[in-house]
Amino acid sequence: MDDMKLIVVGAAGRMGRTLTRIVTESEGVTVTGAIDRDGVAEIGKDAGVLAGVGELGVRVTTDPLPLFAKADGVLDFTVPAATVGFAEIAAQARIAHIIGTTGLTADDDQRIAAAARHAPIVKSGNMSLGVNLLAVLVRQAAKALDPDFDIEILEMHHRDKVDAPSGTALMLGRAAATGREIELDKHSVRARDGITGARKRGDIGFATLRGGSVIGEHSVIFAGNGETIELSHRATDRALFARGAVKAALWARDRKPGLYSMADVLGLG
Ligand code: NAD
Repeated sequence: MDDMKLIVVGAAGRMGRTLTRIVTESEGVTVTGAIDRDGVAEIGKDAGVLAGVGELGVRVTTDPLPLFAKADGVLDFTVPAATVGFAEIAAQARIAHIIGTTGLTADDDQRIAAAARHAPIVKSGNMSLGVNLLAVLVRQAAKALDPDFDIEILEMHHRDKVDAPSGTALMLGRAAATGREIELDKHSVRARDGITGARKRGDIGFATLRGGSVIGEHSVIFAGNGETIELSHRATDRALFARGAVKAALWARDRKPGLYSMADVLGLG
């Protein structure tokens, strides 16, 4: 089979550059396009040079239409507004769209689900095997432990991250809520400040730390009476998310339209 032709959007970003590098190092995939937004200094530069792998002959441009028309898939770790737009263009082109962007609103999610009626979309707040396995373990633990065990989710990321709690923290919160058969939105506590009163039984709390160059650390704490269980994951290299995205793209190639998760890709569903 021919290599899968992939477009990297957000090619000038931290994840975009990592994606370009990992695609060039992976079998069965080729970077055929690179896109970023108007006004970014990297427009016109070679995506391979930006990624530190040498010239690929793929310049970063701002126009997705001609590139999507000739590609098999899109790797997208950008910002919510851009991702929703790319989902619509990928749907028109009937090509796989791999979405790693976090901070999406319910409205964004609806538009992405609508696009998934026309093309396969794999969307996950975390593309690593470890975190997706962690989510399965969290769901099991939450199911096994009664609400006397308070669930708290702690995350830390680098100083430039713009959304909070992280997409991964929310994913872990949803896994815990599913295990407990409750709705996360009705039980999540995103911030505490001042005289908050005692903790409510059954709440799922989130705490966010930001600083330095931390790539992503998550802990789910089950705090009971006299014992605490802690399940954690530490990412030390963002290449792991890019490898997951490439795996997702190859999995989604020629798959029927639909909205899929990394758990589907990894067979953890
Ligand atoms: P970044 O700011 O370094 O990169 C984002 C890039 O998107 C920038 O180059 C920006 O110019 C570009 N962009 C913005 N608007 C655009 C548009 N309209 N068209 C094209 N490009 C546009 O951020 P990052 O650290 O690379 O993270 C990007 C996203 O990926 C964030 O939402 C982050 O939380 C998420 N992320 C997800 C995972 C995962 O496994 N799902 C892992 C790491 C990061």
